[in-house]
Amino acid sequence: MIEQSRIRELKGIGEKSEKLFGKLGIYTAGDLLRYYPRGYNVYEEAAPISEAEEGKVMTVTGMLYGRVQVSGSRRMQVTTAYVKDMTGTLRIIWFNMPFLRNTLAGGGLITLRGRVMSRKSGILMEHPEIFYPSEKYEEKLHTLQPVYGLTSGLSNNAVSKAVKQALDGLDLSKETLPSEVRLKYGLAEYNYAVRGIHFPEDKEVYYHARERLVFEEFLQFILSLRSLKEKNVRIANEYVIRKNDRVDEFIKELPFRLTRAQTRVWQEIADNMASDTVMSRLVQGDVGSGKTIVAVLALMNTALNGYQAAMMAPTEVLARQHYESVAGLFEKYEIPVKVVLLTGSMTAKEKRKAYDRIECGLAKVIIGTHALIQGAVVYDNLALVVTDEQHRFGVKQREAFAEKGGVPHVLVMSATPIPRTLAIILYGDLDISVIDELPANRLPIKNCVVDTGYRRTAYTFMKRQIAEGRQCYIICPMVEESEHLEVENVTDYARALEEEMEDRVQVAFLHGKMRQAEKDDIMERFGRNEIQILVSTTVIEVGIDVPNATVMMIENSERFGLAQLHQLRGRVGRGKYQSYCIFMSSSKSKETKERLEILNKTNDGFKIASEDLRLRGPGDLFGIRQSGLMDFRLGDVYQDAGILKAANEAADWLLKNENEYIQKMSEYETISSVII
Ligand code: ADP
Ligand code: MG
Repeated sequence: MIEQSRIRELKGIGEKSEKLFGKLGIYTAGDLLRYYPRGYNVYEEAAPISEAEEGKVMTVTGMLYGRVQVSGSRRMQVTTAYVKDMTGTLRIIWFNMPFLRNTLAGGGLITLRGRVMSRKSGILMEHPEIFYPSEKYEEKLHTLQPVYGLTSGLSNNAVSKAVKQALDGLDLSKETLPSEVRLKYGLAEYNYAVRGIHFPEDKEVYYHARERLVFEEFLQFILSLRSLKEKNVRIANEYVIRKNDRVDEFIKELPFRLTRAQTRVWQEIADNMASDTVMSRLVQGDVGSGKTIVAVLALMNTALNGYQAAMMAPTEVLARQHYESVAGLFEKYEIPVKVVLLTGSMTAKEKRKAYDRIECGLAKVIIGTHALIQGAVVYDNLALVVTDEQHRFGVKQREAFAEKGGVPHVLVMSATPIPRTLAIILYGDLDISVIDELPANRLPIKNCVVDTGYRRTAYTFMKRQIAEGRQCYIICPMVEESEHLEVENVTDYARALEEEMEDRVQVAFLHGKMRQAEKDDIMERFGRNEIQILVSTTVIEVGIDVPNATVMMIENSERFGLAQLHQLRGRVGRGKYQSYCIFMSSSKSKETKERLEILNKTNDGFKIASEDLRLRGPGDLFGIRQSGLMDFRLGDVYQDAGILKAANEAADWLLKNENEYIQKMSEYETISSVII
């Protein structure tokens, strides 16, 4: 077997599972090796049932007590059992596994491992893994088992088995790092690392394996970045764009005054676009600092100079929101610029119409998703590309745009607070402009960290805010085990909440599995205050701007990274009303408290990032991904800041000494997988 072998060649993989693996982006044996676990199950000793508390993943051993019951509808069957040990009894439920009634009919000792949840009827363990009879647990005890990201129809076991076969069938003896580097930084061998990341015998092996793979990932990224930089520095500016007077008038007409930081950054952008080299610029500003309006000025100025300008957003919801606000502004202030929307979910006919307008040059500002760079789009004279919350995306894609015409200016907008030292490494090829000031009319968000006993009070508080005309977000706990359960969770939560609230309060929910049109519809209705409470998974995270929303409540906040929590909090406090953020946590651990306390104390994203970095030890097993910043497969620029710095140093060394290696590296298709 070689890395390029199709997975069909593996035992147990037929046409059907091949398709399912395909959904996860796994086509070859090599893809399997690189499909790293999302986390690991640590099979600890069973704990007394009396120690069960909400949110905790634990193992219990006890006697099956009473009869196993099946209830619910055909679509959602719930199997219920009770398990009892010396310290108490715990209710256990499974979804859609009615056959368990027979499997467990014999009674006796059983061991279960799963997450403890709290429902109206009390605490229970949901959908645990079953070891029955109990002795079956012994062989698992103390081991780490990989937990893979799954898709419906594909079990964790199936993925594990396939990965095992690939590990056994492939020749892993090749070494991809030069030995000087490997030895200098004390990194594990490739062979050890790939095995160890999938099936670590213990935590030490895992740390060591992961360190090596993260290092390599960063190194490749940095090297390809450096080559981009070389390419970018000298690009002559084909689109010299001068400031149009109408833009200055527009700034004066706005209902608010730009902050000093916004004015400065706008000036930096304008100067850059009028200079003799093409712009590659990152605008960094905390959530709510007003990046959008600065981007709008750049788009408008480009269009008024007779060129096209595009803005690309990571999600359809966000693209639509930007489209509506930009088109609305242009109409209101009578800016003679045609704005069009282009997203993947538009009908073929709608797209065709957009394409025509773009190609003939009628459309001057084009707002959309990745559809902006896909196949059929031909630009007339695209001079500026703005990407929102997509980090490195824009610069890399410049090549794709450039193929279709001249080399456009690129502006990358980011709210991710990142310490300066890391920014220099990660954004080495970009000039950086910082909006380091919030609009003056903002009241600082009031925060509180509370336990689940406070939920009632929080609901009452929301009712009062809604009575005053405001709106609320609730972020539901993440369910790591499966997307299916996550969906269940959000819908259940919203339904239960609806009963709590008065009839005139509209509750809606949002999750990643919904159809685009549905999501758009809900966001639009929330924007118009036809919905007062939006229950959501973290899909809401980036960019959404509804200034009338004043309460953000985050369930299970201990399971999120601080940077992500800060992003979520950024959805409120965007208007003139006092806003509130409630971090709900069921964890009693001291570290969790300490971590959340940082958010409680400050609203400053930069401070949060550096504090988080300080508190953070070596990679934790359940890899709360801190940043979600640049989707590295394994690496996390916060958590692995030390490795990032080391890789940067190694890159310097390699560039001086090992050109042959660099040559080989640059053949890797790394950067695109990292950036997008
Ligand atoms: P972000 O930087 O998070 O993308 P936005 O650009 O969405 O923030 O701006 C947040 C809100 O602040 C928007 O409703 C916007 O209209 C408003 N805003 C932007 N600049 C100012 C300003 N100088 N004064 C008052 N409000 C502003
Ligand atoms: Mg934004």
